Amino acid sequence: MTPLNRLVEQGKVLENVPLGPLTSYKSGGPARYLAEIEDMESLRALIATGVMASHPLLVLGRGSNLVVADAGFAGLVIRLRGGFAETRFEGTAVTAGSAAPLPRLARTCVDQGLRGLEFFVGIPGSVGGAVRQNAGCFGSETKDRLVEARIIDLRTGTTRADGPDALEMSYRHSNIGSDDLVIDATFETERGDAGEGRRKIREITRWRRDNQPGGTLNAGSVFKNPPEISAGELIDSLGLKGHRVGDVAVSDKHANFFVAGPEATSEDVRRLVEEIKDRVLELSGTILEPEIQFVGFRK
Ligand SMILES: Cc1cc2nc3c(=O)[nH]c(=O)nc-3n(C[C@H](O)[C@H](O)[C@H](O)COP(=O)(O)OP(=O)(O)OC[C@H]3O[C@@H](n4cnc5c(N)ncnc54)[C@H](O)[C@@H]3O)c2cc1C
Repeated sequence: MTPLNRLVEQGKVLENVPLGPLTSYKSGGPARYLAEIEDMESLRALIATGVMASHPLLVLGRGSNLVVADAGFAGLVIRLRGGFAETRFEGTAVTAGSAAPLPRLARTCVDQGLRGLEFFVGIPGSVGGAVRQNAGCFGSETKDRLVEARIIDLRTGTTRADGPDALEMSYRHSNIGSDDLVIDATFETERGDAGEGRRKIREITRWRRDNQPGGTLNAGSVFKNPPEISAGELIDSLGLKGHRVGDVAVSDKHANFFVAGPEATSEDVRRLVEEIKDRVLELSGTILEPEIQFVGFRK
């Protein structure tokens, strides 16, 4: 019996778990294996079995920036919860577990009279996903507030604590790879007025409601913004709003959001992304780079 089969038998690793419900697009196939981990001790025990070294790995946060292939992911998915979603405060330093939801972190900080993380309220991901993607909006990015993130190499079990420079964080980028797992992240905030913080949060949520297709199936901005113009404005200016593949269409509200209907497949999303990328290149000469990540697709 392989170590992985033993873990499956012990109920520590699950087999053939649908990933669609764990993503914001709600499409895609199963994970061949999935381990839900509640604390560092269980994570270290899993690493010690050696199973991480012999399978493709995916650390899944809140699935708000991912498209999982309809065939699923033929490796081991690690999903953190429990103790990994906790937040600690020490003066103005806030250490959040990587599974902590960003909107909750934004609101909790404001309630404590701590300012600076309000921009997280509109980003429906986790702290781990935000560090990996250097998520940002409203003029702020994760790297602006990050002091350091603790990261464990899932293949070797080695941990490190790195700040934004060592992580090479730039626009929607870091050097965190698929074998790395963000354990937690410490952010610097400032003391400030909770009422002002709540006003800022309302301003951000109102702006999002007015400008983005809230309440729909999507994964946020599909493409990174090219240097001169936002990807949404560019796609819109080329008349591509409403362009559709299967049950996925370019949103009429914001052209960098591709909204899925109930019948959508992940292949519809992938094809629409390819088609829009090709049309934009043909019509404007601009190469758009996807911000959303494709998991389990053949290259
Ligand atoms: C409606 C909507 C609005 C959005 N608006 C914004 C926005 O304004 N700005 C913005 O930047 N993004 C936005 N996004 C995208 C998304 O929410 C962010 O990229 C977010 O940071 C992803 O976090 P996640 O937990 O969902 O990551 P996932 O989608 O689960 O994963 C994304 C990547 O991060 C990795 N990852 C996740 N957790 C960890 C971890 N603990 N350790 C290591 N790697 C990890 C995954 O392996 C994957 O590579 C939006 C998405 C939606 C649906």
